[in-house]
Amino acid sequence: MSRISVAQLQAAIRDVPDFPKPGIIFKDITPILSDPKLFTAVIDVLAEEATKSRPDKIVGIDARGFLFGAAVAYKLKCGFIPVRKRGKLPYKTFSFAYELEYGTAEMEMHVDAISPSERVVLVDDLLATGGTSGAAVHLVQQTGGTVEAALFFIELSFLNGRARLGGVPVHTLVRF
Ligand code: AMP
Repeated sequence: MSRISVAQLQAAIRDVPDFPKPGIIFKDITPILSDPKLFTAVIDVLAEEATKSRPDKIVGIDARGFLFGAAVAYKLKCGFIPVRKRGKLPYKTFSFAYELEYGTAEMEMHVDAISPSERVVLVDDLLATGGTSGAAVHLVQQTGGTVEAALFFIELSFLNGRARLGGVPVHTLVRF
């Protein structure tokens, strides 16, 4: 990583206890976004990893995945596809519901976002239980596209989210 170490990135990620609810330690990435050297380094590493999959499209996950995914798509000159929470996309959608600790959640993608046989790389800020990115993998597969890799800035490895990504290769920069 161009003169930026993983330890520097780890130190810049801010832990916010009990957000958005008691018991959760929220990993706040805004100090990374606001620092041009750190943000550039993260995007460069994600883009370098994404290039290896020769993607046609980058899929970014609502909402912080848009920040990283769109920058990677720009660098690679790829299309960018948003996967959003239910009810946010204006056109016809595929949707996929998944289990949360309490209740369910649903993610959506436009039905015409990806053509069959297109190569896709998923990008999000953080891999926790893998429910959200697992839903994104299902949505891409519904279109006939192939998820070649899933890239995350942060991985909470004790939650073993990789197991919910159906064998898609996972790459992460910073692990806790
Ligand atoms: P999961 O579906 O459990 O893998 O959760 C991943 C999604 O929730 C990502 O889009 C993250 O932005 C967000 N997320 C989950 N846990 C955290 C956390 N501790 N800190 C910040 N974001 C989180």
